[in-house]
Amino acid sequence: MKKLKLKNTLTRKVESLDPIEEEKIKMYNCGPTVYWNVHAGNLRADVVWDVLARTIRYLGYDLDRIMNFTDVGHMFHDEDFGEDKVESRARAEDKDPIDIANSYIEQILGEFKKMNILNPDGTEITAEQINTYIAQSPKDTNGDGVYKPGNSDNKNFHGWTRAVDHVEEMIEIVRKIMNKGFAYETGQAVYFDVTKYPDYTTLSGQSLNEKAEAVRDEVQVDSQKKHPADFVLWMKRTGKYADHIMHWNSPWGDGFPGWHIECTAMASTYLDERFDIHTGGVDHIGVHHTNERAQNFGAFGHDGANFWVHNEMLVDKEGEKASKSKKNVYFLEDIEAKGFSPLDLRYYFLTASYTKPMAFSWEGLDGAKASRASIIKSLADIYVEDYDGGDMLEAYVEEFSDAVADNINTPTALAVLHKLVVSSEDPSDILRTAEEIDRVLGLDLIKSVKDYKSNQVEIDDLSDEVQGLLNDRLQARNEKNFDKSDEIRDKLSTIGYEVIDTEEGQTVKKL
Ligand code: AMP
Ligand code: ZN
Repeated sequence: MKKLKLKNTLTRKVESLDPIEEEKIKMYNCGPTVYWNVHAGNLRADVVWDVLARTIRYLGYDLDRIMNFTDVGHMFHDEDFGEDKVESRARAEDKDPIDIANSYIEQILGEFKKMNILNPDGTEITAEQINTYIAQSPKDTNGDGVYKPGNSDNKNFHGWTRAVDHVEEMIEIVRKIMNKGFAYETGQAVYFDVTKYPDYTTLSGQSLNEKAEAVRDEVQVDSQKKHPADFVLWMKRTGKYADHIMHWNSPWGDGFPGWHIECTAMASTYLDERFDIHTGGVDHIGVHHTNERAQNFGAFGHDGANFWVHNEMLVDKEGEKASKSKKNVYFLEDIEAKGFSPLDLRYYFLTASYTKPMAFSWEGLDGAKASRASIIKSLADIYVEDYDGGDMLEAYVEEFSDAVADNINTPTALAVLHKLVVSSEDPSDILRTAEEIDRVLGLDLIKSVKDYKSNQVEIDDLSDEVQGLLNDRLQARNEKNFDKSDEIRDKLSTIGYEVIDTEEGQTVKKL
C-alpha cells in the first residue's frame, strides 16, 4: 500500500505516516462553530480535509474519521472569558441556542453537499440525513437549560459529532485530568495547569513566556488563576456566566465545558486515546490544538495524535485572513449569485497547496471555472452514453496517486487530469481513468459531462432567430470577418446561447 506523506506541524516536516493500526487510519477534523454560515475560507479547509479523507480511502486504507460541530463553549476571539458564540446569537435573536446551532448545521451540511464534500464516514450527504440529524438534536426536555442527547445511540452520525451531545464524556475527561493532578479548581472555573506539561508549547514553537504574553490582554477575571496561560476546562455558572443558558451538573458544580475539551472527549471516544491525524486551520496551532495536546497528556499520559496537520488560510488581496469579522470574505451564496458553480470553487481550492496561503480573487475563480469547463468539454467530446467502462491507464493513475499521497499535492493531480483528457489514448480508457481520479478530486466529472451534453441543443430544434444568427455567423467566419462573428456570438449569448466551435462546425448550448 502506498505511504501517505503529510506535513506534520509537530516536526515542521513532511513525513511518511505509519498508521497505528495496520492499513487503518484514524483522523479527527476540527469542525465549524455553528453560530454562522461557513464562508469561503472555512470551505477551503473543508475541501482540503475531504480530499485528504478521499485520498486515504483511495490508497486502500480503512478510515475512521470524526468531524465535530461546536455548539457550546467556543468564545469570541478564542478567549476563556469571552462571550459564547452560539449563545450570543441566541440572545440577539431571542432563540434557543440549539435552534441557532441546528439552523447552521442544516445550512452547512447543505453547502457541503453542493461542494461534493462527503460525510466523514465516506457516504454522500443526503437531504434526508440532514433532516434526521436535525430531528435528533439535543433537547432541553425540562426547560431548565440542561440539554440531553436527542438520540443517545446515534451521537456519532455518519462521523459528525456535536459538542452538546458529549458533555458527559467531557466531564469524564476533566475528572481524569483532575485526578492526575494536572488541573485545579477556583471559585470560577477548573483550569489546566500548563506548568505541569513540559511539552506545552512544542506545537506552536513559542516559549511559555511568549505564550503568557500572548494571553496578557485577555480579561483577567479570576484572581485565583495560577498562570496566565492556564486555560479553562470547566466554567462554573457564576459571576459573568451566572445566567449562561446551557449548563450541566458536574463534580465542580453547575456550569459548562471550556472549548478545547470537546475535541479531546470526542476524539478519544470514537477514535482512541491515540490516533493518527488531527487537523485544523493554522489559526488553531497556538491555542486550541496546543490546549488539546495538554488535555490529552493530562488525561492519558501522551499526545492524542501522531500527526497534527494544518491548512493555511484563504486570504484577501492584501494577505489578510478572510474572516467574518473583517468582512473580507464571501459566502457560497455570493459565489453562486455571480454564476459560479460550487464545483468551480472546489476546483479553485484544488489549484493551490493547502500548506500555502491562497489569495481569493474573482479572476482566479474565473480561471478555475474555465479550466474545469475545458476538462468537461474534452471529456464530452469523447463521451458516449454506453461507453464500455474501458481500462485503467495505469501510468496516469500512478502519477496521480503519487501526487495526492505526497502531502495532498492537488495542483499536480489536476495537471495529470488535464494531460489525461487531451491525450490520444482510447476514449473509453480516458473516461474510465478520469472517473477513477475523480474518486479523490470529487469534481463529479461524469455527471458534469452528462449535464453539459444534455444542455447542448440540436441545431434543428432552434428557433428561426437563432438559426438565422448561426447562419450569419458561419458566413462571417467563412469570410474571415471575425469581428462580425464575435459580435454575433455576443448577441447569441445575450439571448441565452453559448456558441461552441467544434471540428464538425458550430453548435450551441443553452446557458
Ligand atoms: P471558525 O468557524 O472561524 O472557528 O473556523 C472553522 C474552521 O475554518 C477552522 O478550522 C479554521 O481554521 C478554518 N478557517 C477559518 N477561516 C479560514 C480561512 N480564512 N481560510 C482557511 N481556513 C479558515
Ligand atoms: Zn477542535
